[in-house]
Order: sequence, then C-alpha cells, then structure tokens
Amino acid sequence: MTVLFLSDLHLDGARPATTAAFEALMAGEARQAEAVYLLGDVFEAFVGDDDDGDVAVRVAAASRAVREAGVPVSFLRGNRDFLVGPDYAARAGWTLLPDPAVILLGGEPVLLSHGDLLCLDDIGYQAVRRQVRDPEWQARFLAQPLAARRAFAAQARAASAAAQSGRNESIGDVTPAEVVRWMDLYGVRTLVHGHTHRPAIHAVDLARGPGRRIVLGDWYEQASVLRVDADGWRLTHA
Ligand code: MN
Repeated sequence: MTVLFLSDLHLDGARPATTAAFEALMAGEARQAEAVYLLGDVFEAFVGDDDDGDVAVRVAAASRAVREAGVPVSFLRGNRDFLVGPDYAARAGWTLLPDPAVILLGGEPVLLSHGDLLCLDDIGYQAVRRQVRDPEWQARFLAQPLAARRAFAAQARAASAAAQSGRNESIGDVTPAEVVRWMDLYGVRTLVHGHTHRPAIHAVDLARGPGRRIVLGDWYEQASVLRVDADGWRLTHA
C-alpha cells in the first residue's frame, strides 16, 4: 500500500489542466492508497470556506470521493490557502492537521509541514504571515463579501507578480538550523515539507544519527508526488 504526499498544486481557474491532473490522481491511484496527505498550497488563492468557485468545488468533490472510498485525506494549510476552515474541510472530506504535525508511518514518527515556518530568513514574509494568521485579521477579512475578498486576493497576486516579474514567486529556502531544531524537538528522523518548490531528498545530520528532509515540488510545471511504500520513499510525478 502506498501513501501519497502532495503540496503546492496552486490550483487556479487559469490553469485547468492542473486541476484535471489532480482529479485524475484522486479518481485513480488515490483510491487504492493507504492515505493521502495534502501539505498546503493546494489552491493558488483561497478566500473563505464559502468559496463556490469552480476550482474549490472540483477539489472538494474529487477529495471527498477518495474519503468516501475509505481512504483518509489529510490537509494542512499553506501560505496561499491558510483560510481553509472546518466547513470547507468537511465538504472535501479532509482531516485538518496543525502545522507542523507528527504522523506515524510504518511505526516511525514523521514530521509534516507546509514549510513556510522554516524559512526564517524571509523576514518580510514572516511579518505578513503573523498578520494574516491573526484571528482578528481573519475575522475582519471573512466578514467582507465574497466578491470583495476575491478582488483583494487578485490584487495581492497582481502586486506579487509585478514585484517578481513572473508568475512563479521566488521563495527563500529553509533555515538549516531551524530544520534541525524542529526534528530534535519532535523526535523525528524524517521531515516532509513543500513551499520552496525545490524538490529533493536531503540528508540531515542529527545528533541522534542520520535524518532526512524530503521536499515536495510544485505543480506549475511538474506534478510532484511523494510515494511511500514498502520499497521506500520516492519523489516522483503524477
Ligand atoms: Mn507555499
């Protein structure tokens, strides 16, 4: 049995083929999996659980069908879809995980995160993160009409694209000392995260022995999937 990990799909109405690729994975291989973990940034933007847009509706239907086939689907929030709440999670059949979360895989504890919390050098982003994760900020934002929230998200993305002069934001990498601190704190030898769009399996030197940090890739140009089964951990594509 295989466990599937995905992140950074950045699903968006402007790239329908990517949403179709997610639907195909959910309709096929995911139904035979032991579990599916979505590690954030499933959506390019997410403005509230009442989002009735095409992508939100399709992702919920595709995920829910996997859950109804008996396969647990878990989600933790990324920096693009941090507003996913219990109502949308229920529609999608998702179990909401905190970030970070420890799961047991083959009896081994594994630490899961989106990864943005590990990028301490990105000081500007961390300040924005503190603001938008503040419950009062979120309550004020969610009190606005859906159309106003969508306009705000579109404007934020346009400003980001103008600043980056490209559609794919340039993201700083993780802070190595923070990786080691987390792995020691949670007592794990394996960490899986996304966010940086730098897919790789890195060796991590822990005082307790060898560890590894597995980074999922994005779905802008590749449909990155981490498959874990009796043969090991394989960073592959959908
Ligand atoms: Mn991200």
